[in-house]
Parts: sequence; structure tokens; C-alpha cells
Amino acid sequence: MLIFKSLSEIELMAEGGHRLANVLRRLADETRAGVTTKHLDRLAYELIHQSGAKPAFLHYRPAGARRAYPYTLCASINDVVVHGQPSDYVIQDGDLVKLDLGLIYKKFYADAAVTVMVGNVGPEAKKLVAATAEALAAGIKEVKPGKTLGDIGFAVGKVAEKNNFSVADGLTGHGIGRNLHEDPTVFNFGERGDGEELRPGMVLAIEPMLAAGAGAIKQIKDESYATRDGSLSAHFEHTVAVTEDGARILTL
Ligand code: MG
Repeated sequence: MLIFKSLSEIELMAEGGHRLANVLRRLADETRAGVTTKHLDRLAYELIHQSGAKPAFLHYRPAGARRAYPYTLCASINDVVVHGQPSDYVIQDGDLVKLDLGLIYKKFYADAAVTVMVGNVGPEAKKLVAATAEALAAGIKEVKPGKTLGDIGFAVGKVAEKNNFSVADGLTGHGIGRNLHEDPTVFNFGERGDGEELRPGMVLAIEPMLAAGAGAIKQIKDESYATRDGSLSAHFEHTVAVTEDGARILTL
């Protein structure tokens, strides 16, 4: 079921989204060689609380998961695409670190992700990160009344294809509001004009996840998802409202 948000609800979501963007920027600055992902998680927890919001992922139990998520942040390294659990892992020069973070502000969720290139990353990694950022921008550009979810997916998939990268299988964006995950599912591939029509009041977490190799993924022991062939992956995400005038990015 689609849940449409009023203009005042979208304003609240933008306030939460702005807080999230600030926290994520601080975390990205702190993401460097020698730092553990647990350190980033603690910082995320503190910064979210300081902003007057609450962590969204902590204690969240996604459908089908064996247990509630025990951390504030998802920190996924290199071939790990999403849901990487913070640990004592020490970030290395050359790592691709995907920071995925959500918060709850005045009962509304915001969700965003960035990929940080640590130190000297290789040319393929740079190209992958640039393509994934471009895919997100291309998807957001499709957001306007009368376009469809298929238009978003088509735009994202096209950028992946043009760069000879793959869209990670089975991982999608989602509607968002008073719940972290709402309808609709936002696929990172699609056909022009297919799927649900975009209408003002819809709020979507658009999140391209690209792999340098094949798109097949596997679930590993901390329940995170990694590429099956071990190739690098990148991830960017914004929470975006559909307005009469087009996209309004709420996580800025
Ligand atoms: Mg998300």
C-alpha cells in the first residue's frame, strides 16, 4: 500500500533528512585508514542523538532477518555491498567504505548512503564510485509526476550498463515515511513507462548498488550481502520526495 505524505510531513522529513546528511558528512570525514568501523558506529550514534533524532537501524528487524540489527550504522567494505556490521576491522588505505545510515526524527524516517574512497584507491574503484553516484543522479532526475518507477530503474540501469558495471541482484530501494521500508519497491533496473506512476506525496529511498563484476550476491555470516565474485561494489542513496515540481532531495 502506498502512503502519501502531506506537504507538512515532507517538511518534517526534510528536517530529519538534513540532520542525517550532516551526520553522514561527519562520518565520511572520519572514514580513513586506521579507524575501525565500530568507531564510526559509536560516532554515528552520538551524532544522531546530538541532532535530536534517533537511530533508525539500531534494533530494527528487517523482514526475514534472524535478529534485530545491533548497530546504528551499516559499514560495508569493498566487496560487501550493504548491511555490513561495524566491527574491529581497521579501515585500510584503498578501501571502498559504504556508509549507510538512517534516523528517526519526529516519527519520520530518513535513509541515505555514501561510498567513501579511502586514500589511494584504484582506477576501477574510482570509476565505479563515479558511475554509482551518476546512477543516483540519473534516477533522481526521473522523479516527477507522470513518470514511473520503471523510468527511475531504467535510468539507473542504463548508467551501470554504459560503464560495463552490474546492478547488484535483488537489492532495491523503497518507499519511506513513518516506516523505514514502505511500498513501493524501487528497482535499480526497469523499462521506461513501466510500473507505478509517480505522484506528489510519494517519498522514495533511491539507492543504486553497483558491482564492478557480475551482479550476483551472497549473504555472508554477519547477514551482510557481498558480491559473489568478490568484485568491488559501491552504493549511494538519497531520500527523495515527489513534488509537483519534480524531485526534492530530503537528505541534503
Ligand atoms: Mg535504504
